[in-house]
Amino acid sequence: MNADRPLSAAALDRAHVWHPFTQMKEWADPCSEVLVISEGQGALLRDEQGREFIDGNASIWTNIHGHRHPAIDAALTTQLGRIAHASFLGATHDAAARFASELVDAIHRPGADYRVFFSDDGSTAVEAGLKMIVQARSQRGESARTRFVSVAGAYHGDTVGAMSVGQSPLFHRPFRSWLHPVREVPSPACYRCPHNRAVPDRGVEARAGRQCEWECVGALQTAFDEMPGSVAAFVMEPRVQGAAGMTMHPEGYLARAARLCSERGIWLMLDEVMTGFGRTGEMFAFQREGVTPDVLALGKGITGGYLPLAATVASAPIHEAFLGEYAEFKTFFHGHSYSGNPLGCAAARASLEVFAAESTLERNQSKSDWLRRAAATFWEHPHVGDVRVEGMVCAIELVDDFATRRPFPASERIGVRVCMAARKHGLLTRPVGDVLVLMPPYCITEEQVDHMQRALWRALLEVLP
Ligand code: PMP
Repeated sequence: MNADRPLSAAALDRAHVWHPFTQMKEWADPCSEVLVISEGQGALLRDEQGREFIDGNASIWTNIHGHRHPAIDAALTTQLGRIAHASFLGATHDAAARFASELVDAIHRPGADYRVFFSDDGSTAVEAGLKMIVQARSQRGESARTRFVSVAGAYHGDTVGAMSVGQSPLFHRPFRSWLHPVREVPSPACYRCPHNRAVPDRGVEARAGRQCEWECVGALQTAFDEMPGSVAAFVMEPRVQGAAGMTMHPEGYLARAARLCSERGIWLMLDEVMTGFGRTGEMFAFQREGVTPDVLALGKGITGGYLPLAATVASAPIHEAFLGEYAEFKTFFHGHSYSGNPLGCAAARASLEVFAAESTLERNQSKSDWLRRAAATFWEHPHVGDVRVEGMVCAIELVDDFATRRPFPASERIGVRVCMAARKHGLLTRPVGDVLVLMPPYCITEEQVDHMQRALWRALLEVLP
């Protein structure tokens, strides 16, 4: 190393860093560009060279109110003036105790009482939830209830339990022998429903085809009934499955699934790591269908996208299963060094305050319409197979063949190429396979939505003229 000339961040990164979900051979290729983000403001990111980008996927679905929001910045500065971190083992602090209480208020299920267990990210929130369920079943004398049911294409994180309830043959291939057996049920995502072979008709809502008979709910019921008394919980991402490609469930699936669970004493564990904190319209996606989860996993947007904090929210009966005398060892033996981190909790409280102060959920209704309008223009392209918008989630699915919905061969990397091309036009986003995703921070302006649309459209034409 030349001591006289400081190496750039890009060079140091290439020499020393290992990036998540990244083919490091490509990353190391000197012909590829390493993007070095240096600043953010609102919905914009700026790189070292001063180029501006719209943060089109809210920094992997985490940022909700925008970068450098004055209220969250101020809350962090205040908290820093007190303490950055102190252990949550055997002590508490103001930020976490107050945030837990405010979070339970925001969840707001009449008649339900919840406890908040803190961890660090979405995967650990899910992992803690699964372990809570297994231990609670055992301590309630329901040891036969050990099985989990989850949805095809589900993604719940990268720890072993979370991978087990996830359904990604591609990501999980090397770990197959480590994973716990989990019963998979079909995803209720309509676009690739194997039953209703309707012909896509470019944006017209009701697609002509066979009447939907809720075969997906039927399959869930069959799964439950084939394992009587042995299912501990049904785990799902409510309404929108993120990493499956922002696939959206039909209205009513969640409520029907919840009913099947409660009729059979099966707990409903909802992973709202992506959908939580207003992303799909309501504060939490489950509120749209009036269901009451037994366990709720939260992460990503919980701190407004500022800091790694996560929460597993458990219903009173689950929490009560852990109460006992010391020597009974009913304690939940799980925790993390940074559980309940005060800075994270201060950011999370400030984020909830911003929701109230800025009427964020109400204002998002018109922003969702802007996204819907922008997305609808993509139907013009012959390789756009589906356009989906729910709340502040917008997905444009590219297909090789519109009529049959045949995907492009993965080797063509169409989604990646379109998103790389969009960078040149000032839009940063990351596809899920060939699904283009627009999920900006909620502070996005109408002009910025139009900018995203233009950038993505130009990029699409460059890759698929
Ligand atoms: N659950 C869902 C629904 C997710 O989308 C993700 C992350 N994309 C996770 C869990 C895992 O969260 P994290 O990356 O914070 O561990």
